[in-house]
Order: sequence, then C-alpha cells, then structure tokens
Amino acid sequence: MVTKDISEKKKLEISLKDSEAKYRDLFENAQDPMYTLDMNGTFLAMNNVGLNALCATKDEVIGSNISEWLTPESMEIARNRLKEYADGIYMGPTVYEMVRKDDKHIWVEIKNRFIWDGGRITGTHGIARDVTEQKKMEQELKESEAKYRDLFENANDPMYTIDIAGFIKTMNKAGLEILGGTEENIIGSHISKWLTPESMKSSQSVLEKQISGETWEFPVPIEVISIDGTHKWGEARTRILKEGNIITGIHGVVRDITEKIKIEQRLLESEARYRDLFENADDPMYTIDMDGIFQSINNAGCKILEAKKEEIIGTHIVRWLTPESFESAKQRIKKNLSNVSIEEPVIYELVCNNGEHRWAEIRTRPIKEGNRITGIHGIGRDITEKIKLEQKLNDYRVKLEKSYEELLEADNVKTEFMSNVTHELLTPLTSIRGFVELLNDETMGKINAEQKKSLEIILRNSDRLIKLIKELLDTSNLENNKLGLQFGLVSLNSILSKTIQDIHPQANDKQITIIKHIQQLPEIWGDEERLVQVITNLLINAIKFTPHKGKITIKAKEDIEHIKIRISDTGIGIPADKLNSVFERFYQVDGSAKRKYGGVGLGLSICKSIIDKHYGKIWAESNGKGSTFYILLPKLEYKEGEYNV
Ligand code: ADP
Repeated sequence: MVTKDISEKKKLEISLKDSEAKYRDLFENAQDPMYTLDMNGTFLAMNNVGLNALCATKDEVIGSNISEWLTPESMEIARNRLKEYADGIYMGPTVYEMVRKDDKHIWVEIKNRFIWDGGRITGTHGIARDVTEQKKMEQELKESEAKYRDLFENANDPMYTIDIAGFIKTMNKAGLEILGGTEENIIGSHISKWLTPESMKSSQSVLEKQISGETWEFPVPIEVISIDGTHKWGEARTRILKEGNIITGIHGVVRDITEKIKIEQRLLESEARYRDLFENADDPMYTIDMDGIFQSINNAGCKILEAKKEEIIGTHIVRWLTPESFESAKQRIKKNLSNVSIEEPVIYELVCNNGEHRWAEIRTRPIKEGNRITGIHGIGRDITEKIKLEQKLNDYRVKLEKSYEELLEADNVKTEFMSNVTHELLTPLTSIRGFVELLNDETMGKINAEQKKSLEIILRNSDRLIKLIKELLDTSNLENNKLGLQFGLVSLNSILSKTIQDIHPQANDKQITIIKHIQQLPEIWGDEERLVQVITNLLINAIKFTPHKGKITIKAKEDIEHIKIRISDTGIGIPADKLNSVFERFYQVDGSAKRKYGGVGLGLSICKSIIDKHYGKIWAESNGKGSTFYILLPKLEYKEGEYNV
C-alpha cells in the first residue's frame, strides 16, 4: 500500500517533472516574451524572447523589480490594473511603456493572470507582445493629426469639410470669419445656406464630377452670402474625403478674392465711366497704336473727320492728314514713343472723308502699360473756323498792305504833282498880279475909274488865287517834309502888331472892332514868316466867320514856360464835336456846295503843322457864341550864353 502510495507519488512526481519540463520548454521557446512575478513585483522568471526585448541578461532581470523596467506612468497604470485585476474588474490586456537596459523605450501589450498556490495567489504570470511599432505609428498619427488640425484651424484661407449630403461638418476660423458666424450657427447647416444659387450650382457640378472619379484641378469661383447678407467672393478647391473606398465627404479650401473682385468691379465701373466720357466728350479723342493705326475714336472725332467709326478704326493716320501734317505727326509720334513729354499742342490739317480740309489743335500723350508704351492718346479741338478766319484775315492784311503801298505811291505822285502844278501856277500868277498892280498904280499910264474898278477886282481875285496856291504848296511841302523853316530870334509883339495892321482894312470892311491886350513879350526861337502866316490865318478866319459889327479880341501874355496867344471872335462859333476836326486838312464845318464861306479847309491844318514844328500847341474852344483859338509857344531858356528851346 505504502509502496503503492510511494509509487503513485513517484509517478506523480515524474509526471509533474514532465509537465514542468514541457511548460519550461514552452516558456523558453515561446514566440512572445513571458515572465513571472512574485507579489512584490520581483521577476522570478523571464524567457529569452523577454530578455531580448529588454536587451538584458537573465541575471540583470531575475530578482529585479518590475518598477525598474517601467516608466513611472506605466508603473502607476500597472498598480491600478493589479488592483482592478484582483477585484476582477479588468481582465484585458494593457499597454505599458518599458525602459530597456540600453535606456530605449519600448511598448508592450501584456496579458496577465495570477499564479495560484493552494488557493493563494503567489504571483503573476505575463505574456507580452511588442507593440512599439504600432505605438510609434499611433503617436505619429496623433502628432500629424494635431499638426493638421492646427494648420486647418489657423490657415489664412477658409477651410471646411462637408458630408456627402452637403452639411458642414467642420470649418476653420477663417471660414467662420468669412461667413460672419460661429461654430454653433454654421456647423451642421447646409452649404446651400451660404452660397448664391449660381455658386451652389457650379460647386455641385464640380463635386459630382469629383465624386464620379474625375480629377478637377481648377478652382471654382463662388459667391458667398455671409450671415449679415453681404456678398463675398472666393475660389474654392475641393477634394473628396475617403475612408477606405467609401466617400465620406468633401474637403474644401477657399481663397478669399473679395477685394480682387471689388477692385475688378470698380475698374469696370471706372472703365465704363471713362468710356462714357470719351465717347461723349465735346472734343475729338482717339488712340493709335505704335504703328499709327487708329485703335479708337470718339463721336466728336468721327464728326470732325466726317466718317463713321468703322471707317476710321484700323486705318493709318496717313489716310487723314495732309502730307505736311503727316510729316509733323511722325516726328511727334517718335518723340511720344520715346517717352519725351510734349506739352504744347500741335495743329494738324485733316483730310476728311469727303475730301474737305479741316484743322485741329491736338495734344498727345503716350499710353503706358506698366513701363511699356503701347500707343498714343490724343485730344483735339476743331479750330477750322479759327484757321479759316485767320486765313481770311491774312488775305485782307496782304490786300490792305498792297493797297496802302499803292496809296502811298499815289499820294507821293499827287504831292509831287501838286507841288509842281502849284509852282507852275504861282509863277505866271505872280507876274500877272505884278503887271495888274502896275496898271492899277497908273505907272503905265492913266486909267479911268471903271478900268480901275476892274483892275481892283482882278487884283483881289489874284490875291485869293495866290493865297490858295500858296496854301496848296505849303500843304504839299508839309507832306514832303520840305517846308523848310527858318528859325531865328523873333518878337511876337512885332509879329502881332504887323499882322493886325495888315488885316485892318478887311476888318474895317465889316466894321469889326479889334481889341488888343498884348503884354510885352520876350523874344522866342521861331520862323517869323511862318508865325505871321499862322496869326494872319487865325485873324482872317475870325473876320470871315464874324458878322458885321462884330468883335475880335487878341490877347497875349507869358507864363513861366510859355507865351500864350488868344484870338477870340463873336462869330458863328464851332460845334463842340468839330473843335478838333477843323485842324484836319480840307476840313470845313460847312463843306456843302452851297456853303456861305469860301476857302478850301487848309489854313488851320497848315497852322497846326507850323506850331507843331515850334514845339507849341494850337487848339480851339467855342461856347456857341463865337470861337476862341489858343496858341501856346515855348519860351526861350537862357543858359550860359546859349538859347535853348
Ligand atoms: P478855310 O480856308 O476853309 O477857312 P481853315 O482851315 O482855315 O480853312 O478853317 C477850317 C474850318 O474851320 C472853316 O471852314 C470853318 O468851318 C472853321 N473855322 C475856322 N475858324 C473859324 C472861326 N473863327 N469861327 C468859326 N469857324 C471857324
């Protein structure tokens, strides 16, 4: 029995040994790391795979505590797990971070079970699996996801994801900002809420293409309506999101081009405004390219060329200019194209469609695209009327100049003729008068009373004729500048008394009283004979235009610089508006054929010329009751033995 017991025991021992050997074999040769720990966490055993995983030898591991091989965090997890394990709460595998002998970290997934010894837990047995690769990948994934999320969130461009039905799943800050909303009112809403119908349509058609597998590289222009109703513009690029083979949604990136679109719109508006101004400007405007071909022309431009727009655009400027104007246009274009700015306008003679010539004053400036000159812009003004007027004026001027020259020529001939004729008349007349005087004096024998009367008539008329001829001669000499004056010291007192004495008989004939108020005057520098002629003329006129029993007053006095002579009468007077005209040649207040008074209107003009040559002044005044003539003559200035006028 005992033997049997012993043999039973032996058998058991053997089979235990066998099983232990089998187990040991399994343990040692297992693919996965295995170990046993006592309840303090001290390693009791570890297979080779385990030791390899820790890069350690058996001696280094067996007897060491598990805490030496775990990171503090993993140790914490292990303690908790052990408790949960003991409470039967958690039985599954757990991942731990272990520190190898060479200080490198590895991740292992460990399955534990308790080792029982007679109803008592004596330790734990663990099977581990190296999950380092997987763990690293997970971490990288996490990092890359975080990076992506960061990029997504903080990207300058709006980004979003939508599900296949078109509901917004995510949207970054830039996206929310563009829509002017928050995650609460945007995430979960349908994309159509934020797009104009047209944009919705175009995005949808692109998405359909992408879903059907077509690659679509181009951005889709979209018009977005933000929460406050303002419209914004963007360019969206979308791509399909897939999980495996299943399309789960769409990812979109939008570039905000609102500013660009707004600038484009403003540009369009300003272009339209410019076009409007250009088209309807009063002045002709055009553009030509570098070769001189018309690129555009406005209505006023068409009008001046009398042509339709389509007849001008595309043609060369040479077609519309005279050869001379084309030559100057070429020079100007050359300058314009070499960027020389020309401020002053140029006048071109245009050849219109109907052959008519017109003129335009044109200002030009180069058209630039960036730094490149691409053509010329011109603004003109129709100056045809002005030019025509100028031409007419010029024609007149030329004609006038010619007439004037002819007139001068004729005048010279006339003056010459007058001078000759008067001379020729004067000589025989003087001789006639001389002989008549001799006859009248009875030097050549006695004559009877009747004969005497006749001779006196002849004498009077001869005198008149001689006076007239002398006046004509003086006038022509004045015109020729041949009236030679003989200057010397003269006494106006003697001139006045001599002339007054000479005209006395004529005054007596008309019973005209002559009153004199003549001061003693200093001598002046003058031509005595001519001054006598002036005073005589004025006195004879006074007698002539004063009725019987009238009065002539002669006054003469000196002031500081002048001698002033005043001859006034009580005659017919001179109208105020004729006071200056009476000094013009051949002027008579009554110039009619039936005029009462004789004369030819030369006397006063000669007087004026003579007084002018004495640096004096002569003028007339009249108050309707007679005329007053004034003469102002400069006094001599005595300086150091010399007389100066
Ligand atoms: P005429 O030989 O015709 O007198 P004048 O040159 O001496 O030429 O005078 C020009 C004109 O001036 C006269 O025809 C006359 O109309 C006017 N005139 C000149 N002196 C007087 C005067 N004292 N009273 C009124 N009219 C005068």
